Amino acid sequence: MIDITLLGTGSPMIDPNRAGPSTLVKAGAGVFLVDCGRGVLMRAAAAGVGAANITALLLTHLHSDHITDLSDVITTRWVTTFVPSPLPIIGPPGTKAVVEATLAALAPDISYRIGHHPDITEPPSIQVHEYTDGLVWDEGGVRITAAPTDHRPVEPTLGFRVEYDGASVVLAGDTVPCESLDALAKDAGALVHTVIRADLVQQMPIQRFRDILDYHSSVEQAAATAARAGVGTLVLTHYVPALVPGQEDQWRALAAGEFSGPVEVGNDLHRVSVGN
Ligand SMILES: [Zn+2]
Ligand SMILES: [Zn+2]
Repeated sequence: MIDITLLGTGSPMIDPNRAGPSTLVKAGAGVFLVDCGRGVLMRAAAAGVGAANITALLLTHLHSDHITDLSDVITTRWVTTFVPSPLPIIGPPGTKAVVEATLAALAPDISYRIGHHPDITEPPSIQVHEYTDGLVWDEGGVRITAAPTDHRPVEPTLGFRVEYDGASVVLAGDTVPCESLDALAKDAGALVHTVIRADLVQQMPIQRFRDILDYHSSVEQAAATAARAGVGTLVLTHYVPALVPGQEDQWRALAAGEFSGPVEVGNDLHRVSVGN
């Protein structure tokens, strides 16, 4: 089994009820955090996962809403880990520079804590691995592969496929439909896809909001991707505009026009288990 928990189903828009984009994936002994939007560690705590329990952080891309809490993940893991263990951070090219800049911003805090606590002698230990595609993780029976997605002008961007014991889950991130995502998602048990409601966003009076149509999949497009790839379950997240409780069926109906399988439309902490 692979367990998915939607930690944050929000978007860049502030929503008191939705954390920023982040998904927790548990596979075997691995606990993987995919993106780290606003409030991610609060939601992870609610899901029973502390920063010290995270096996690796995977970043689909470096848009601010997906990395808002990188600083919190780095610092909280560092101060709550009593046997130092490096945090692997896997992301597209550019990730190393962002991590280094984050550590630079944290330099005063790091020096305060090293100065104050005799048992903290080293700064946070981070191992950054940058990929554009291919195998990014192979440990304990868990294999994770990455493939490029299309979120231009934001590039490079990645989708991830997590496989364990015959089960598979694909995390598309922010992307328009593209062949490499179709290939990555081929026959996966579940596809977690960020989505926007094109029917609603098209009517927004502000150009800046309509611009997001350029580089995200609509619900219908995500569902068409799921259908082409033959995935088992489509899991929607990163709702734009925010999902209004009670309107889940509207989102499901838009997806159902393109994809005949089950469609999960959940709030933060919604869980989906995927078997083989
Ligand atoms: Zn994005
Ligand atoms: Zn986004």
